[in-house]
Amino acid sequence: MLGGIEFGGTKTVCVVGERGHVLDEVRFPTGDDPAANLARCADFFRSHGALEGLGVGAFGPCDPDPRSATYGTITTTPKPGWAGTDVLGSLAAALPGTVLAFDTDVNVAALGELVHGAGRGLHSLVYLTIGTGIGGGLVADGRLVHGLVHPEMGHIRLPRPPAESARFPGICPFHGDCFEGVAAGPALEARWGSPAQDIGVDDPRHAAMWELEARYLAAALHAYVCIVSPQRIVVGGGVGENDELLMRTRPLLRESLAGYVDHLAVNRPDFVVTPALGNRSGAIGALELAYRAVVEAALPDQRGTPTRGHLSDPVAD
Ligand code: ZN
Repeated sequence: MLGGIEFGGTKTVCVVGERGHVLDEVRFPTGDDPAANLARCADFFRSHGALEGLGVGAFGPCDPDPRSATYGTITTTPKPGWAGTDVLGSLAAALPGTVLAFDTDVNVAALGELVHGAGRGLHSLVYLTIGTGIGGGLVADGRLVHGLVHPEMGHIRLPRPPAESARFPGICPFHGDCFEGVAAGPALEARWGSPAQDIGVDDPRHAAMWELEARYLAAALHAYVCIVSPQRIVVGGGVGENDELLMRTRPLLRESLAGYVDHLAVNRPDFVVTPALGNRSGAIGALELAYRAVVEAALPDQRGTPTRGHLSDPVAD
């Protein structure tokens, strides 16, 4: 039996199951009391007996580096109560004997979609979520990508129409008009005066809002395509999982790339898609992370000691 947790900014999803298959699930608000939240997670898993492995995907910023002293910790999040929470340490104490692995919520969702969803048969995929924030996960050559910390695809700078820059400065507390600052749900509400879901097709703001959103999304995807060369891009989240948005975005992306990225896949409608796993990309991905951790933990590393069971690169020392 494997377990998975997806810690989102608003809700927490715990699942037990097998590789690619959820057998039981519980969802509850993430809240602002990490100790109570983590105790509830541990109770759910204990009620299903011993787990072989547990994969955790968490909102960030967090520390996904297993070589770091703060691996598995939520670091500088503005979310009340959670900054500095040692998520993995707490779960390890509550679930002794379980192999644990930790990554960002979007990296875990990218892994789920790659292996069991829209990216089956591929080896490189970007998973982007546009909701209350914007985040992206990346699998390249079958491996989840980390580095200094983890990718922050929602905070890149985008070209903006000059009149739009003058009208709306963006709302990211760090960057103002980065991608998240102009295109996440709260930014749309600030820019257009209503939540995006309240601006229906009969509303005069509707077409202008989605056209501008598609321009921003196409510009961001242009950057990802040129930098990481994904074989497919999955766009999810409350704002992003929207057929109208993707229908407007695809031709803008092709126009923006201007034929320079010379691969037929870029021109196909299935290059940019919604999640095949629906709202379970993260949960299925967390189970996959757990599965890989269990397999990896069973293999001795170069120094003959078990690894901590994470999709990390070999330690170069
Ligand atoms: Zn930003």
